[in-house]
Amino acid sequence: MTKRVGVIGGGQLARMMIAPASELGVEIAVLAEQEGMSARLAATRVGDYADVETVRAFAREVDVVTFDHEHVPQEVLRALVADGIAVHPGPDALRFAQDKLVMRRRLAEVGAPQPDWAPVSTRDELAEFIADHGGRAVVKTPRGGYDGKGVRVVSSADEADDWFAAFAGEAILVEELVDFRRELAQQVARRPSGEMMPYVLVETVQKDGVCAEVFAPAPQASPRELEVAAEIGTSIAEGLGVTGMLAVELFETTDGRLLVNELAMRPHNSGHWTQDGSVTSQFEQHLRAVLDLPLGAPDPLAEATCMINILGGPQDGSAIDGRFAAAMLDQPRAKIHTYGKDPRPGRKVGHVNATSDELDDAVYVARAAAAHFG
Ligand code: ADP
Repeated sequence: MTKRVGVIGGGQLARMMIAPASELGVEIAVLAEQEGMSARLAATRVGDYADVETVRAFAREVDVVTFDHEHVPQEVLRALVADGIAVHPGPDALRFAQDKLVMRRRLAEVGAPQPDWAPVSTRDELAEFIADHGGRAVVKTPRGGYDGKGVRVVSSADEADDWFAAFAGEAILVEELVDFRRELAQQVARRPSGEMMPYVLVETVQKDGVCAEVFAPAPQASPRELEVAAEIGTSIAEGLGVTGMLAVELFETTDGRLLVNELAMRPHNSGHWTQDGSVTSQFEQHLRAVLDLPLGAPDPLAEATCMINILGGPQDGSAIDGRFAAAMLDQPRAKIHTYGKDPRPGRKVGHVNATSDELDDAVYVARAAAAHFG
């Protein structure tokens, strides 16, 4: 019988599972937050992902439940597991991607390299951490942050008063301000039966807290660095019991160390390059992993792949579709991916991938295509 994968969340990550699902002969059902979302091409039900009965009813009609985002509450996930429904990643793994303090504690237990960090509940505790770390630190809300919201560089403890109030009585996270050379990402796929497949390390460039460009493989990474990153990724995937795709965001420090910034347990923006630059895309791999099918080869298909996000669309508010056509005409080697979303400032509405024998060439083609949306 045809397997059905239920994806909670109707964004572009769910949408991009649809093409590989059809190749694998798998059906996708989506529980979307509202009508007309990016993943509307799949069979879609609209409902509240925080409501147990809504999610239960959705889950009953699929063989496995997975996610487009990490916001489904633990109690909802646990109710599904208690019903005997396959949930990947499961609640025990997902909680490490839902709460940055829980993640830091667990990463310490599995010995992953991290920035110095501490839970702080008062101004005094924060002031002490800042003083111990050269007068500046990074404060983070444990939950609810994304794309740089919920992250703040502070030099004085009163700069986090609003977050202490919002998380009344609960600790927030403080980290050393890492002096990094660049940001990297390591992806790993893991099946429930334990098989793992690490992808190659990539460099990610963020603008205003949002991923802007990705270079795969990470330029100038030594064989040793690639190996260390893959080891960090697989040890976290195994140690945290992740199933499906895991993305480990890393800092490369100015003295050449790798430190874990954060985790995502789903396909991730740092892996969009795999759609055109790898034997198995992260979306196909995620489906294979959550269905406990044999994983595909993660090998790059070219010397270099560049991914560029399209944010918001044209500034002048003109129709976005014409821009896509113009970019296609101008750069036939660029692979342009559209999410079927209305343009809004800063909103991710698509991305471009380009592969080449030379990184410079891949970057040129991708940027030339993406420039049509500037
Ligand atoms: P989000 O969950 O919103 O993506 P992150 O924890 O990934 O937040 O942080 C967003 C960005 O802030 C990172 O990509 C990095 O550029 C910067 N950042 C986060 N933590 C640190 C840190 N400890 N030191 C220096 N920069 C940091």
